[in-house]
Amino acid sequence: MLDVAIIGGGPAGLSAGLYATRGGLKNVVMFEKGMPGGQITSSSEMENYPGVATVMDGMSFMSPWLEQCTRFGLKHEMAAVEKVSKNSDGSFTITLEGGKTEQAKAVIVCTGSTPKRAGFKGEDEFFGKGVSTCATCDGFFYKNKEVAVLGGGDTAIEEAEYLTRICSKVYLIHRRDTFRAAPSSVEKVKKNEKIELILNATIDEVYGDSTAGVKGVKVKLADGSIRDLVVPGIFTFVGLNVRNEVLKDGDKFICDILPSGQVKVDLKMQTSTPGLFAAGDLRQDAPKQVVSAAADGAVAALSAMSYIESLH
Ligand code: FAD
Ligand code: NAP
Repeated sequence: MLDVAIIGGGPAGLSAGLYATRGGLKNVVMFEKGMPGGQITSSSEMENYPGVATVMDGMSFMSPWLEQCTRFGLKHEMAAVEKVSKNSDGSFTITLEGGKTEQAKAVIVCTGSTPKRAGFKGEDEFFGKGVSTCATCDGFFYKNKEVAVLGGGDTAIEEAEYLTRICSKVYLIHRRDTFRAAPSSVEKVKKNEKIELILNATIDEVYGDSTAGVKGVKVKLADGSIRDLVVPGIFTFVGLNVRNEVLKDGDKFICDILPSGQVKVDLKMQTSTPGLFAAGDLRQDAPKQVVSAAADGAVAALSAMSYIESLH
């Protein structure tokens, strides 16, 4: 039986692995379906991790993390986890794609989230080259420049407001003329002179070239005409897909989940199911940053160790 099974090898999973193994647990496996590193490996520049002054791409930034963990004994299995279930004796069964199973005393789920794609032409081609889903990460690249934001939820409204502190102007494009976001936030945005609302509008196309990245956005207005916004950056905030599928047992979840799909946790990253922890973008109120995901992973590992200790 494994001491701890970690599901997902992004910043949260890798930090959980580091703390669990360095903390003395001998039998810890991190299941990651792809290359370890997580979402940040798709970023062209990473410059806001405290203490790392060198700006580098996300892949280079994450590459030493696994090596550091394996030094302390973390085992990494490249496998997609299909399901985590709680056994009657309190342990967990981890079912991998293909049907193989593993048993574990405790589980830390770090499967993250994926920003939804909006589906316009050029979105995939220019993702990371002007199309972004993270204003905190990439807003600085457009200092004193004009940018566009797509969406009408809390994230789009709040991030548009945030971007006005950095950029000269923000075009906020939303497909309706009313907003899903909290009315108080919407009021702030409406009063902000650096934001121009383009409502009842959709993005027809993002264009540019493969070296320089995005050069502009063609917006389809309510009357069918096209407005060309010459901007080097477009931020899309059209919702998140939280990767909580592994916690599903039939049509129910094995722990409490918020309506947003995020996993309910306490300050120890403990879910409502004893021995099951969630860390990183997946958990409620996640700030969705590498530094906070890494911190969550460390907290979850320390909590899992205390939990295992309490079993004796
Ligand atoms: P993730 O990074 O999402 O990792 C989850 C991992 O779990 C993935 O590797 C996935 O393959 C794996 N997984 C999922 N399901 C399964 C399964 N069933 N079985 C096995 N494995 C599974 N943050 C910053 O702090 N600074 C930045 O500059 C920055 N820039 C960003 C730029 C981009 C383009 C993006 C997309 C994000 C950026 N972020 C940035 C946000 C940051 O990447 C995330 O907050 C962080 O990666 C979350 O870490 P995590 O470990 O919770 O989840
Ligand atoms: P969201 O609430 O799902 O909003 C997504 C927005 O994107 C909606 O305005 C939606 O339009 C639009 N949209 C969806 N698909 C689109 C597409 N293909 N093309 C163009 N527009 C599209 O997502 P979110 O803003 O990321 O918020 C996620 C959750 O986190 C929500 O529960 C939110 O309340 C919460 N949150 C809370 C806070 C806070 O409390 N301060 C902050 C951030 C997020 P429609 O409105 O027309 O559907």
